[in-house]
Amino acid sequence: VVELGMPSRSVITTCAYCGVGCSFKAELRGDELVRMVPYKDGGANEGHSCVKGRFAFGYATHPDRRLKPMVREKITDPWREVEWEEAIQTVATRMRAIQDTHGPASIGAISSSRCTNEEVYVVQKMVRAAFGNNNVDTCARVCHSPTGYGLKQTFGESAGTQDFRSVAEADVIMVIGANPTDAHPVFASRMKRRLREGAELIVVDPRRIDLVRSPHIEAAHHLQLKPSTNVAVINSIAHVVVTEGLVDRGFVADRCEGFEEWADFVARPENSPEATEPVTGVPADELRSAARLYAAAPNAAIYYGLGVTEHSQGSTMVMGMANLAMACGNIGREGVGVNPLRGQNNVQGSCDMGSFPHEFTAYRHVSDDAVRAVFEELWGRELLAEPGLRIPNMFDAAIDGSFRGLFVHGEDIAQSDPNLRHVSAALEAMDLVVVQDLFLNETAKFAHVFLPGASFLEKDGTFTNAERRVNRVRSVMKPKSGKHEWQIVCEIATAMGYPMSYDDPGQILDEIAQVTPTFQGISFKRLDELGSVQWPCNVEAPQGTPTMHVDEFTRGKGRFVVTAYVPTDERTTSRFPLVLTTGRILSQYNVGAQTRRTGNVAWHAEDVLELHALDAENRGITDGDLVTLASRVGRTTLRAKISDRMPPGVVYTTFHHPVTGANVVTTESSDWATNCPEYKVTAVQVGLAHPL
Ligand code: SF4
Repeated sequence: VVELGMPSRSVITTCAYCGVGCSFKAELRGDELVRMVPYKDGGANEGHSCVKGRFAFGYATHPDRRLKPMVREKITDPWREVEWEEAIQTVATRMRAIQDTHGPASIGAISSSRCTNEEVYVVQKMVRAAFGNNNVDTCARVCHSPTGYGLKQTFGESAGTQDFRSVAEADVIMVIGANPTDAHPVFASRMKRRLREGAELIVVDPRRIDLVRSPHIEAAHHLQLKPSTNVAVINSIAHVVVTEGLVDRGFVADRCEGFEEWADFVARPENSPEATEPVTGVPADELRSAARLYAAAPNAAIYYGLGVTEHSQGSTMVMGMANLAMACGNIGREGVGVNPLRGQNNVQGSCDMGSFPHEFTAYRHVSDDAVRAVFEELWGRELLAEPGLRIPNMFDAAIDGSFRGLFVHGEDIAQSDPNLRHVSAALEAMDLVVVQDLFLNETAKFAHVFLPGASFLEKDGTFTNAERRVNRVRSVMKPKSGKHEWQIVCEIATAMGYPMSYDDPGQILDEIAQVTPTFQGISFKRLDELGSVQWPCNVEAPQGTPTMHVDEFTRGKGRFVVTAYVPTDERTTSRFPLVLTTGRILSQYNVGAQTRRTGNVAWHAEDVLELHALDAENRGITDGDLVTLASRVGRTTLRAKISDRMPPGVVYTTFHHPVTGANVVTTESSDWATNCPEYKVTAVQVGLAHPL
């Protein structure tokens, strides 16, 4: 008997917001979702949740959603609703026409870390097999691509080393460039529990984030470095470890290579805390104490976020942290490791699924003949051995006229990418922009075809969270547009002459498992049995792998890499004397496309600019004033918030709202290895906005 007004059924699925990957029971009354209840057996959350996953699901039924495909000849024309067949044929015909005129490399696609593994896999397959090039990239380009690069170089695997539970065994926790309280709240709760039990905390961040001082928690050290000096700080910590004899010699001798060269480098006088203090702003004695605390702990764990990766030396810093962890033997057991906190729900998965232009699934380079042969045999197509274009290369090529057609899947590049004026110019220059999304977002303003996507409640498949945990996403309702997202992609590929079809996403996952060594033991059936599983899951690890690199590293020996500090080119000047850094707040998520369409928007109705009282006073700014924020690429107007979290000279804002958001002013400066944008460092000026 179902009580009137009570849920009549429930479906266990996964939150579609951050990389913690909490499991929920979606409770329905008929076809209406009435509430999301955190699932007590969820592998990542064990019954906990945050304000986004629990309450911010109303966007899925928001009236802004577009449920019919739409086309238009020019971006100045009005949209025309069409049937699916016409929309798919339009995409296929126009993409092929571009290739006929401008060559096979003139089109490409961007996949999304908001989408399921299965959806990401078919997008990269469409590009490689149907488009016939490797011009596929993922929005992880602009967040954790340096993690992929740096951890692969040092450990041999582009993924975090631990599971979340492991933090309960840490004696010292070092949080670098991350604000888990706001961005990964459920994991932050686990971490805080451990800190309240007595673990010591080191925070490395220009801002005084909540974690530095919160109820019953006080960081032992807050290394409040100047933005862009991460690598100088990590090298100085390593200097103390090496010169004060704190290295775990047994671990290094048994498990690692390249130590001597690295140790000689970090021991140089210019890497000492005293020498780097003028550069980093971190007092030498404070840094020495923090280094000793980390090195002396039985178990010390590093957790980090985009404050590490979104720099011109993002990849260098990832390797610097890996070096430090190896030097102190902090790898291969519970309570240690180097752990990226991923922003989006499926950042790990979208990278695992081969959506970088140079890699197939499981991070295998497209130039590897043996790997390529596996895909060629299965897909029946000859594949290119040369990497394709990264997202910023696509924009540059669009402006110079050689890249003319782009399929954008579930990402709002016209709000999320840096230097939006450049992005807009690139999109305007293209002959065909296809947007597959829930809403007519900022990117859709430049689109010729709009394909309605499905919300997470309509999806069936898997997400992979920050601890490599593959979680089931189960559909609560049918796709409102009438088509699954993976089906749309398959139909475009088919219409372009490369037949692609699957009965269901379980069949796509089976194909992924067939071609991906780390996924060999993963299927819907297995996930239903185990609840979730952490890759690698294969013959050697049939139950999955909570802790990586236990007896040896994925690459065999862990590799020390010399990480010289190179100052960023983004320097302050008399015209732009302040440094802007960016981030998120608890109630909102990325570009806000979802959370702005829920009750959460009431908590954060606009992006604000946080600045120190001295910087405000010098400019005649008082709390709540409208101010202009300007950089060498653009300007925006925001409300000022005077904040003692900020050091003098550094200002901070979020990018949750279009038009005003931070990316109007962020520049195209990027990580040397991966082109991840340097969102965390922009030279800016702030002044009172002139009244209209
Ligand atoms: Fe969702 Fe992340 Fe919140 Fe969990 S912590 S409910 S995954 S937003």
